[in-house]
Amino acid sequence: MRPMNKETALVIFSGGQDSTTCLFWALKHFQKVVALTFTYGQKHVLEVKMAEKIAAKAGEVARKNGLNCGGGDVEWHQMDVSFISQLSHNSLTDSSIEMDQEKPAEGPPNTFVPGRNLFFISVAAVFARERGINHLVTGVSQTDYSGYPDCRDAFIKALNVSLNLGMDEQFVVHTPLMWIDKAQTWAKADRLGVLELIRHETLTCYNGIPGDGCGECPACKLRRAGLEEYLGFTRDASSKKEGGEKFEQRKIQTLKS
Ligand SMILES: [Zn+2]
Repeated sequence: MRPMNKETALVIFSGGQDSTTCLFWALKHFQKVVALTFTYGQKHVLEVKMAEKIAAKAGEVARKNGLNCGGGDVEWHQMDVSFISQLSHNSLTDSSIEMDQEKPAEGPPNTFVPGRNLFFISVAAVFARERGINHLVTGVSQTDYSGYPDCRDAFIKALNVSLNLGMDEQFVVHTPLMWIDKAQTWAKADRLGVLELIRHETLTCYNGIPGDGCGECPACKLRRAGLEEYLGFTRDASSKKEGGEKFEQRKIQTLKS
C-alpha cells in the first residue's frame, strides 16, 4: 500500500450549490484542491461552463476570505462519462421524458440517474489514484436526498470500503453535507464567505437556469426553501426574536459538522 497523501483533495464538482460549497470547504481544509467535472449528456452544457468558471476563481475568492489554507488555485479537469446516459433512461439526460415534480411512492423520481454516484466516485477514485490523491470529496446528502439511494451514507461508506479493497488504497470519501439540510448548507456557504457567489453563480436548476433558477422544478424548490429558511433565521437572529435563538442553536450544531 502506498503512503497516504494528506495534503490534496479531489472534489467531484458539478458547479451546483452543493458541490461548490464542498469546493470551498476543501480549500479551507486541504493544501491543494483538484476539481473534477463529469459530463454525461446533461441537457445543459452551461452547467459545465459554469463549473469551469467557478473553479478558475475559487482559489482567489477563498484567499480573499482568508479561507484558503494552501493559498493556491484549484486545478480543474473535465471527464466524459456519457456512457451513463446510454445505460438507462431518465428525465435529466432524455428530454423526451417529462420530469417528475414529486417523488413517486414506489421509488426514486425519474430525475434519478441509476449508478451516477457509483460511477462518479469510482472514476474519481481511479483519477485520484493516478495522481497520488487519497481524499475524495462529494456533496451528497442523506438529509435532502430527493429519494436518490446513492446519496445515502451507507452506500458511500460501502463504496469507500470497496474502492480501498479493489485498488489496495486508503481513500477517504468526505461528505461534508451528508447530515445537514439545504438551509444548513447555505449556512455553511455563508461561513465560507461564498453565499452570494453560490446564490448567483451556480446552477442547480433542472431547467438549466443559473442562480435562483426557474423556481418551479424540484431542485429549485428545494434550494429556495433552504435559502428562505436560512435567511429567515439570520433575519430573526439579528432582530433577537425567538427564531434567533433557534438559528444560534442550529449554527452551533452545523459548526460541529
Ligand atoms: Zn429550476
